Formats: sequence, structure tokens, C-alpha cells
Amino acid sequence: MSSVKVAVRVRPFNQREISNASKCVLQVNGNTTTINGHAINKENFSFNFDHSYWSFTKNDPHFISQKQVYEELGVEMLAHAFEGYNVCIFAYGQTGSGKSYTMMGKANDKDEMGIIPRLCDDLFERIDNNNDKNVQYSVEINTSLFQVSYMEIYCERVKDLLNPSSGGNLRVREHPLLGPYVDDLTKMAVCSYNDICNLMDEGNKARTVAATNMNSTSSRSHAVFTIVLTQKRHCSDTNLDTEKVSKISLVDLAGSERANSTGAEGQRLKEGANINKSLTTLGLVISKLAEEAGNKKRRMKGVIPYRDSVLTWLLRENLGGNSKTAMLAALSPADINFDETLSTLRYADRAK
Ligand code: ADP
Repeated sequence: MSSVKVAVRVRPFNQREISNASKCVLQVNGNTTTINGHAINKENFSFNFDHSYWSFTKNDPHFISQKQVYEELGVEMLAHAFEGYNVCIFAYGQTGSGKSYTMMGKANDKDEMGIIPRLCDDLFERIDNNNDKNVQYSVEINTSLFQVSYMEIYCERVKDLLNPSSGGNLRVREHPLLGPYVDDLTKMAVCSYNDICNLMDEGNKARTVAATNMNSTSSRSHAVFTIVLTQKRHCSDTNLDTEKVSKISLVDLAGSERANSTGAEGQRLKEGANINKSLTTLGLVISKLAEEAGNKKRRMKGVIPYRDSVLTWLLRENLGGNSKTAMLAALSPADINFDETLSTLRYADRAK
């Protein structure tokens, strides 16, 4: 049994791909995704995932909308957070493949909202509905506290997106009980969905972007949005208070394309090397955790290399232990991206 839910999603052609008369190399059948290389003198490869989402053309009967992606991936993760698990959803893929669209989408558009705004919306709705007297007779939820933080990891350094003037190199430390954390990272208390949207807007403006040959606004950093949900319950029979804390991390990873495929030099090359290092470590951590979950009965335990990158170190409590993880790999349908898409599929395949 794998500890990670893995989904892939095929986006529509973009304008450039349409004008270049691109061919679609991807095909989805149930949970199987096939990449067809025969037309371009390459091989065909098929992979099975928990979900294979086809969002290529809207009028297709198998088309999967933003709402359906959220309902199949996000709802379950939110339910786990309320049960007390730490949860993590991350989007992987080359620049322009649809990571931000899937995670954020268009926050103010009901149809095009991504996982993050939908999950935040649902979170507050669930809390509001907890006033229902039928729920829990002698145990009531007194307060639910939310705190959010938003940070960027760029070249193994952490920047506070809610306080960009604090510089781009915050210290990463380890708490004996709570695990790794970022020193002085802003944590804002929020009490509505709008509060969260405003903070995300602020943070997104502060993200590091740089022009590469591949995409003028390609993102070269990982953005980690974290919600800490605290549920306090008072039991009137025993007069005891209990507290359940869960951390929800929503991660939009940097583009997975290799540094050399984007004509990078100097600083851009260094960025590429760092991005590769953290993505490789993330892949390794996840496949080791999956292996460990499969080997539980035989009590086999290996060393999980969380410390090998800042990203995995900070996500430690969200990836291993008392946690649930979902990964969405975003795919371009175009023949020109065949090699990158195949490498994304292989990465997703290793995470199972
Ligand atoms: P990434 O975050 O991987 O760099 P984006 O999410 O910014 O890529 O997507 C690139 C472009 O493709 C954007 O204009 C986005 O709106 C569009 N796009 C991506 N996925 C979809 C989709 N499933 N449906 C419609 N448009 C999409």
C-alpha cells in the first residue's frame, strides 16, 4: 500500500502549440496514461496512477474540470486534516504544464478556481457547519484557529512571502517536538476565506521569477503555502480540554525541466542545479516512504533522506509519520515536450 496518492493531468494546447500545429502525444484510458512516441520515432509508454485526468478539450465526455480535480484529491485531504493528520498536496511538472492552474487557478472565477481556494473555502464552511447542535452531544468544538504562512524556497534559501522585506535567507531550525521550522516566518491568523485569498495575492506578487528561453515568467522557486488548523474540544462530562493540530501544506513546485534544456548559464544554471537537487530528493523521499509502507509488516526501515534538501526537510512532518500526501503531475500534451512529459510520468510513477 502506497502512502502517496498520485494523479496526473493533461492540459489543453496553449496558443503557441496550436500555432505550431502540435500533435497530442498523450492518451488517457481509465487510470492509465499512455504517451505515444511512434509518430516521432520514439517508443510508447503506459503508466497506471490513482487518477489520470484528461483536461485536454472541454467538449470531450471524459473532460475533468477544476471542480472534479478538487473533489477527487482535495476533499479527501481536507477530511484527513480534520481527522488530525498532517497533509500535503504538491504539483510537479515542467514550466507551463499547468501546476499553478491546478493549485491556484483563477481564484475569483467559480469554474476555474484551483485546489487551494476551493480547499480554503471548504475549510471555513466545515467550521461554520460545526455549530450544528446534532453534531457531538457532549463534546463541542470551542475554537478553531487557523494560521497561515507562505514561503518560497529558492536556491535552498527561504523567503517569507508574507514579509518579503525580511530578506531571502531565513534560518531553518529544528524544534525537539514539532520538527523542522523556519525562524521568524510570518504566521497570520485568519478567520475567513477572503483573508486567505488576500494573503495569497500578496505572497504571489513577491515570488521570484526570472526569464528563461522557455517561458518569460517561468517559476524557478518552490512556493509552500501552509495552513495550521487547531481544533480545541471541551468535554463537559469530564471537564477536559483536548487539542488536535494539523498542518496542511500546499506546494507549487518549481519547473522540473532540466537546467540545460532552457539554455541556462551562471545564476540560472545554479538555480537549475538546486531545483534538480530538491526535486530529486523529494522523489527519493516519497519512493522510500512508499517502500517503507509496503514493507511495514516485515519491519524494514531505511534512512529517509529528508535532510538532503530544504524543501524535504521543511516538509518532513507532512510527508512521513502521521501524514497523507497527494501528488499531481501536470502534463503538456504537445509532441515537442515528449521527453519532459515522459520524465514527469516516470517521476510520478516512482512516487507510487
Ligand atoms: P505552470 O504553473 O506549470 O508553469 P500554468 O499553470 O501557469 O503552468 O499553466 C500554463 C498556462 O496553461 C496558463 O495560461 C494556464 O491558464 C493554462 N492551463 C494550464 N492547465 C490548464 C487546464 N487544465 N485548463 C485550461 N488551461 C490550463
